Amino acid sequence: MDQSYPIPFNQSSLVGRELEHISQTMTIGQIAGDQTYSKRCHAFLEQVLGVQKAMVTTSCTHALEMCALLLDIQPGDEVIVPSFTFVSTANAFALRGARIIFADIRPDTLNLDEKQLEGLISSRTKAVVPVHYAGVGCEMDVIGGIAARHGLSVVEDNAHGLFGKFRGRWLGTFGCLAAQSFHETKNITCGEGGALLINDARLIERAEIIREKGTNRSRFFRGQVDKYSWVDIGSSYVMSDVLAAFLYAQLEAWQTIQAQRQRIWKYYDQHLRDWAQERGIGCPVVPAHCEQSYHMYYLVMPSLEKRQALISFLKSRGILSVFHYVPLHLSPMGQRMGGRNGACPVSEQKSERLVRLPFYNSLSQGNQDQVIAAVQEFHV
Ligand SMILES: *Cc1c(COP(=O)(O)O)cnc(C)c1O
Repeated sequence: MDQSYPIPFNQSSLVGRELEHISQTMTIGQIAGDQTYSKRCHAFLEQVLGVQKAMVTTSCTHALEMCALLLDIQPGDEVIVPSFTFVSTANAFALRGARIIFADIRPDTLNLDEKQLEGLISSRTKAVVPVHYAGVGCEMDVIGGIAARHGLSVVEDNAHGLFGKFRGRWLGTFGCLAAQSFHETKNITCGEGGALLINDARLIERAEIIREKGTNRSRFFRGQVDKYSWVDIGSSYVMSDVLAAFLYAQLEAWQTIQAQRQRIWKYYDQHLRDWAQERGIGCPVVPAHCEQSYHMYYLVMPSLEKRQALISFLKSRGILSVFHYVPLHLSPMGQRMGGRNGACPVSEQKSERLVRLPFYNSLSQGNQDQVIAAVQEFHV
């Protein structure tokens, strides 16, 4: 990330035993994938979240690509994705030839608007990909019910939502598949990395094959076959154990990390919510039945101009704040898939007005005070 600001938007920090574990991978001579540290990460995710199977991958993007392969997405199939998300949510399915159908978001949580879902389903729809934006759960009971009635698969893009819950149940455990990100901007990180969570046991064996270049190498290593060979399509989605060692140290410290992020989030909220409300500025909405993952703190400004002015003002104070996402239905690729201006009005409006404040595990209270003071000095 850009470190040229005294208060950057994001900053990586060590939380515990990262370097010790990395050096251990060399000591035991295990730096390729699926060795001691990868297995520890798998066991951790399976035990804490209670998923049938977890597999670390090179990225969340690649975990989503594995989902598209596992669901046998074919050219002409339709996949419903919120317009307000990162490109990979859609691209992983477009890569298999799917037509992406863009759903608008709810104005409160900025999550896929479940009330619009049924109207987007056709005879070609194969899957829906809810994104738990900012780690606040989508309405998974409604989405799951609609998907079941229409025979659709649910794939959770849980890049923001690790350790968040919906109605008491972990995010990432609702879909047949879920994808995690351990990119440096996420709560738990190893720089670049991800994981596939599998909640439908029927998908496990093929997931192992797809992740291992289309071979049954995993079965070979378990002694279940006496040689391994090419048995299906696949690619190279295995994370190096050097990164898994870093990741495992972060996972071991997950409660510390989540407590730090909760404190940061609550501090912003305590100091900015009333100020914002008095000025017609939006703050994150977390419904009572959602336990969020404390992934980000954002403001929704009254207009694009005010948003840009706030970002510039904060820059002049040495603070980097950022915006996202350009709605996918208005992107060049999205327009080729039929995306049109005005098609997802809430996504379009929020995209122009949202600003994310600096948020990282090691953000000090002193620095946070400076961000809060600068925001409050801004003349809306
Ligand atoms: C970060 C992110 C991804 C992609 O994660 P990578 O690990 O960088 O591939 C996908 N979806 C969402 C919603 C994200 O925020």
